[in-house]
Amino acid sequence: MRKLKITELNRITPEDFKTAEKIPLIVVLDNVRSLHNVGSVFRTADAFRVEAVYLCGITAVPPQAEIHKTALGAENTVNWQYFENTLDAVAELKQKSYHIAAVEQAENSILLDQLHLKDEKYAIILGNEVHGVNQEVMNQCDSCIEIPQFGTKHSLNVSVTSGILIWEFFKALPFPPSVLPARQQHLCHPDPSPI
Ligand code: SAH
Repeated sequence: MRKLKITELNRITPEDFKTAEKIPLIVVLDNVRSLHNVGSVFRTADAFRVEAVYLCGITAVPPQAEIHKTALGAENTVNWQYFENTLDAVAELKQKSYHIAAVEQAENSILLDQLHLKDEKYAIILGNEVHGVNQEVMNQCDSCIEIPQFGTKHSLNVSVTSGILIWEFFKALPFPPSVLPARQQHLCHPDPSPI
């Protein structure tokens, strides 16, 4: 298998990204401490055409060298907004009729493999590296999604969590028609058989 050259990846330009259709998903970061984690979330949000990233509380905002280090420019393509208080972001999302899901380990959470999405706009809230999603914010959420874990560690890294969740939402939500040509390009395996 020959590795593809960057020019063969047929990526859209940052200018085209701005006006390209997005999936109806907003990622909310509730007081995320690490700028590298923030940058990493931006990079994944760019890959899957996430509508916006909301940066709340102590979460750093671009431009920042440490965000850029992991975002590699995605901090300039993905829409973002800053809220001093995560509850203000939640209030705005409620007012705009988004289904708001905490991504957290909590009572009555929906395990990710049991997730069934409806024809709705979604916002997912990810929390601080030490304290998780604030309980007051949890209280305002419509649901909670948890990734089951089977090892020794209590939790996953927050940006890794966002990657797993964003991919799940991308697969389940109606993806923009303009994504289709990239999915059908001849470079992909014509006969996806079990490996
Ligand atoms: N010790 C913290 C862990 C925070 S991990 C706590 O007790 O909450 C940082 C963030 O990553 C969490 O707030 C959550 O949004 C996400 N996360 C990590 N592991 C997760 C899992 N297994 N399921 C859902 N979210 C998870």
